[in-house]
Amino acid sequence: MIELDQLTGVLCKESFYKNAQDILKSTFPADFEILRLNIEKFNIINEIFGEDVGDRLLQAIGKTLQNLAIPSSVSGRLYTDNFVVLYPADEKYRNLILAILKELSVNFLSHYIIQIAYGIYHITDLDLSISRMCDRANLALKSAKGNYLIEYGIYNDELRNKILQEQHIISQMETALKERQFLIWLQPKYNTTNEKIIGSEALVRWCQPDKGLVYPNDFIPIFEQNGFITKLDRYVWEEACRLLAKWRDSGKDILPISINISRIDIYSPDLVEFIAGLVKKYDLKPEWLQLEITESAYTDNAQQIIDVSYKLRQAGFTLLMDDFGSGYSSLNMLNDLPVDILKLDLHFLKSDGQNGRSSNILNSIVRMAQWLDLGIIAEGVEKKEEVDFLRNIGCNVVQGYYYSKPVPVDEYEKMMVPAQKNKELS
Ligand code: C2E
Ligand code: CA
Ligand code: CA
Repeated sequence: MIELDQLTGVLCKESFYKNAQDILKSTFPADFEILRLNIEKFNIINEIFGEDVGDRLLQAIGKTLQNLAIPSSVSGRLYTDNFVVLYPADEKYRNLILAILKELSVNFLSHYIIQIAYGIYHITDLDLSISRMCDRANLALKSAKGNYLIEYGIYNDELRNKILQEQHIISQMETALKERQFLIWLQPKYNTTNEKIIGSEALVRWCQPDKGLVYPNDFIPIFEQNGFITKLDRYVWEEACRLLAKWRDSGKDILPISINISRIDIYSPDLVEFIAGLVKKYDLKPEWLQLEITESAYTDNAQQIIDVSYKLRQAGFTLLMDDFGSGYSSLNMLNDLPVDILKLDLHFLKSDGQNGRSSNILNSIVRMAQWLDLGIIAEGVEKKEEVDFLRNIGCNVVQGYYYSKPVPVDEYEKMMVPAQKNKELS
């Protein structure tokens, strides 16, 4: 019994599953792939052009898939704008499908190019149900969605491991926070004129009981997506405050710690109260805590961040614009923004290799900072030549592997001691 999808003429979901299963069972050796497609922002097309245009688009896709001249292939619509095609795993077929759909997406509307996202699962496990195979194609599709640089996503071990790892991270995060598995490490900032530490940046590390140390690039992007970053950041900020209080109580010299504020944090209505509250709770001076806000945050919602920045500044905090030079509208923003220090990542400037422009750019940025009466710190400094060059152009504060990697708190405390001794001696 074959049930066709009324609107588009391809098979409806259950019939597709059944037909695809039959094809896989009756072909030896069965070497097939499933291509899944989904129209980007289909709801917007409905909204702008009307639902009948949306329907006609689905019909056109259905018709295109029905007319594929590929032996042993079958197409179906799972729901709404989600179509699937099963066909023999051969690049020429894959390219054919992509090419005719491309033509359709360009020509269907006269002033609007329809974007279609594709995911492919090359069937390696014939024991899976067709529905699970379509899920895998969907994971591949999602990995490519919104990324116009890649034509389609493909399900492979790498993607599978990435997804499993993400699920693991998400399943563990709340427990990890409760069990205090997140630690702060400190990376010192140096004054290059006397080679002394002037402060540090708190960088989070996750000490997982089974895996050991995990670095932020592996979990921060996931937490930024699912919102957990707000909780983690607040925890990290409080850890930094506890440390400052400990130093004060033990009579140590206090060197400021800078903390990272994620762009999502900016949208918390109680951000300023929270940070000011921490400082009050631990009886700290606000200048001991510096706030690093990444440059790209400034482009998201300019007004919001200007307002928040003014309030934070009023509360006595020093603001650093992190990763300066990596985004776009930074120069414009400098006009309206109350920042104190530009934090320049050499990493973003090193890429131009031989042609020597990067040193001119650096030089100009440092001069601009001086001119605007802003502080400047360079991070990602790895070589002596870089330190010398920066010193020459008037940038005397640096952070980077040349001086020190981020280190555990106790190690940083040992590094702080000589500074204190020096002072006692002088
Ligand atoms: P970031 O804020 O730009 O921090 C600087 C990163 O550069 C750190 O990586 C640091 O270890 C690394 N780095 C420092 N000096 C050098 C160097 O000379 N060469 C090279 N190649 N790298 C250097 P890390 O600790 O892995 O952190 C990566 C990013 O994760 C941070 O970039 C920051 O965006 C984020 N992050 C870390 N901790 C937190 C946190 O508590 N909250 C939030 N929201 N983000 C955090
Ligand atoms: Ca930072
Ligand atoms: Ca940075």
